[in-house]
Amino acid sequence: APGLYVVSTPIGNLEDITLRALRVLRSATLVLAEDTRHTRQLLTHFGISTPLHSFHQHNERQKEGLVLRQLRQGAAIALVSDAGTPAINDPGADLVAAAAAEGLPVIPVPGASAVLAGLVASGLPTRQFLYCGFTAPKASARQKQFAALATQEATLVFYVSPHSLLAALGDAAAVLGPGRRCCLARELTKRHEELWRGTLQEAAQEFTERGPRGEFVLLVEGAPAGSAAAAGAAAGGGEAGEAEIV
Ligand code: SAM
Repeated sequence: APGLYVVSTPIGNLEDITLRALRVLRSATLVLAEDTRHTRQLLTHFGISTPLHSFHQHNERQKEGLVLRQLRQGAAIALVSDAGTPAINDPGADLVAAAAAEGLPVIPVPGASAVLAGLVASGLPTRQFLYCGFTAPKASARQKQFAALATQEATLVFYVSPHSLLAALGDAAAVLGPGRRCCLARELTKRHEELWRGTLQEAAQEFTERGPRGEFVLLVEGAPAGSAAAAGAAAGGGEAGEAEIV
């Protein structure tokens, strides 16, 4: 059927592709890929030869018009990223918004995403969580990012590049408190998968000693219940938690 298919692919383990993803990728008119060489390997592995077009952060805008035109003509277009779920810190959100605005069908084909994989294995509360994207690369922006989340009661989920992990852990410990529990979900679904758990201070120590290697999701336990209300009251009493985004 025509439409824009937002197709999740594995985040490390090829067995995590779904049967439906394979069928959609096989039968699509074309596949939009963040990196065509990377996705070509995946498709070849599964014996799929659907044409690939590049769609990444630098040509996203410019390709949008062309893709929308094809969708209007009834094409079935599959969107994939290098790993995990497109539009989650990967290209695709603007294209989906544009397609949706025109009333064109958008069909999610769910599968792996590091956010949920890390969350469910973290051991931290899952009832409420806040996906915060990547920790900011610059120290001042990152400290502000953490400060704005200090009274957030939901479990916090961040993507962290290995290159900024140590600084991010140091800032998180300083701003959110050294004793907060956290989990570093490292190399999920891969050979060296690890769920490291401890406090933020312990995490900073541990990963400074051994060096930050691999891909990481950082999960931090939320503030104690009542923190948001207390902070709201202290700030002069608007609706407690009014500005929270969960
Ligand atoms: N769209 C992807 C998703 O749904 O998971 C995320 C893409 S984002 C550009 C890449 C970041 O996701 C990495 O820097 C890391 O923080 C996280 N990530 C991706 N794969 C991972 C894995 N196998 N283990 C741990 N973290 C991973």
